[in-house]
Amino acid sequence: MTFNIITIFPEMFSSYLHESILARAIKEQKIKVKFLNPRDFTRDKHRKVDLKPYGGGPGMVMMAEPILLAVSKIFSSRKMLPGGEGKSHLTTNKNFKIVIFSPGGKPFTNQVAAKLAKSKQDLILIAGRYEGIDGRVKKILKAEEYSVGPYVLTGGELPAMIMIDAITRQLPGVLGKDESVEEKRVASHEVYTRPEVLVWKNKKYKVPKVLVSGDHKKITLWREKRK
Ligand code: SAM
Repeated sequence: MTFNIITIFPEMFSSYLHESILARAIKEQKIKVKFLNPRDFTRDKHRKVDLKPYGGGPGMVMMAEPILLAVSKIFSSRKMLPGGEGKSHLTTNKNFKIVIFSPGGKPFTNQVAAKLAKSKQDLILIAGRYEGIDGRVKKILKAEEYSVGPYVLTGGELPAMIMIDAITRQLPGVLGKDESVEEKRVASHEVYTRPEVLVWKNKKYKVPKVLVSGDHKKITLWREKRK
C-alpha cells in the first residue's frame, strides 16, 4: 500500500517512520510513503501556499491550486487503468482514496482503518496548516474529511501519521503475531509483565491473581469482562 502525503512539512515524518514497526514495514515493502510538497507546485517565486481568507477572519488559508497540482502529479505518475492514458488531468482516480484532515471531519476509528487496510486503493493524505484548506479542494477531489479527535492541532501531519500507523498495523504480515492485530484490542484489556509484585515507594502492587493462575479459560473471561 502506498501513502502519498501532501504536506508543507515532510521532514516532520522522518523520525516516526524510521523506527520500529513502520520502519520494518517500509523495509519489507509492505508500505511505501511518498511526499509531495505544495510549495513545489506554486507559480510565484516565494513559493507561497497560503492567502488571506475571503470574508475576513484570522489566519491564512491554504490555496487550492498547489494542492490540486500535487494530486494531479500523483495521478499521472501512476500507470493509469486501461483506457486511462492521458487522463492525468482528471480530479478523481479509482486507484486512490483521498483524505483531507480537519477537526470537523468524520471520526477516524479503527473500523475505518481496517476498511482502508483491506481496500486495494492507495491513499492520498492531505495535511492542512494555518486555518485549513480552501473548501473547494474537498469538493473537486471528492475527498473524505477525517478528524483524529475532538481537539485542534496545529496541522494535519500528526493526523496523517496516526492514519498511516493505524492502517499499517492492520496490513497482513506487519505485526509479528496474528492475534496482535485483533480488532478487539482497541478496547484493550490491562496488561502486565514482570515483576509479579512491584514495590514502589514502600507499597506493593500485585499482578491480578487470575493472570498468574495458568487457567486460560479464566484469563479469557477476565479479559472479556474488562473490555
Ligand atoms: N480553523 C480550523 C478549525 O477550527 O477547524 C483549524 C485548522 S487547524 C489549526 C490546521 C489543520 O490541522 C487543519 O486543516 C487539519 O488539517 C489539521 N487538524 C487540526 N486538528 C485536527 C484534528 N483533530 N483532526 C484532523 N486534522 C486536524
